[in-house]
Amino acid sequence: MLEGKIALVTGASRGIGREIALTLAKNGAFVIVNYNGSAQRAEEVVKAIREAGGDGVAMQCNVSDFSESEKLVKNVIAQYGRVDILVNNAGITRDNLIMRMTEADYDAVMDTNLKGAFNMIRHLSRFFLKQRSGKIINISSVSGIMGNAGQANYSASKAGLIGLTKSLARELASRNVCVNAIAPGLIETEMTDALSDEAKENLKSLVPLGRMGRPQDVANMVLFLAGDNADYITGQVLHVDGGMVM
Ligand code: NAP
Repeated sequence: MLEGKIALVTGASRGIGREIALTLAKNGAFVIVNYNGSAQRAEEVVKAIREAGGDGVAMQCNVSDFSESEKLVKNVIAQYGRVDILVNNAGITRDNLIMRMTEADYDAVMDTNLKGAFNMIRHLSRFFLKQRSGKIINISSVSGIMGNAGQANYSASKAGLIGLTKSLARELASRNVCVNAIAPGLIETEMTDALSDEAKENLKSLVPLGRMGRPQDVANMVLFLAGDNADYITGQVLHVDGGMVM
């Protein structure tokens, strides 16, 4: 399905990004598994990709850094010549009530979740435009749509990603580049492991399907948006949340 395509997945050393990388690779894409600090885990993802019959490579880059992101893109283009699919998945939380939220917590979340996506798109858009094709998929969150007490920074970054998605969908459409966002609900990863059992139960009670989602649920949507079957879909926010937001 994605044979011959080059995919770059940010924050792919674990959780949702890992599953996205594996799923794209199992469907034929060569995957660049980006990570920031977890080199060993990113190499394990590449190993799992190869064991599943696919191919890929791990590449370090802190996506929140403009010039590091440029270096990553230059490196990828020099080695593989193109990128067909960009998944902006890298993300962090620094939850706190607004009265206790530090400037550093606010900046770190905005820099990784929102500016990180801007950085990657900014450096890659030239190549997408020249190719006259491309799929950009930004991983937002239900928090960016409905808000969440204690996550003002995170919700703002994820809502910002939706604005970025829609503006770029309009800007890049004439060159056949599709830009969409996915808003996952509560997904089982290390990010949500950090929540207390009480918080998880409270959130689960908001999910009509009555359970947390799995990284594979999000990866399935990425696979759809990355493929030819989604060629007429751009500027959308697709929910993968068990019905949490409707
Ligand atoms: P996770 O398990 O905490 O993994 C986060 C990934 O992001 C890691 O691979 C990490 O790599 C990478 N990362 C963090 N900062 C980075 C940076 N500056 N540069 C490059 N990579 C960086 O998180 P997750 O639950 O899989 O979440 C993935 C995405 O889905 C995030 O954008 C998150 O906001 C979103 N999301 C998650 C949920 C959920 O319920 N889990 C719900 C909605 C949306 P290193 O370890 O190498 O730093």
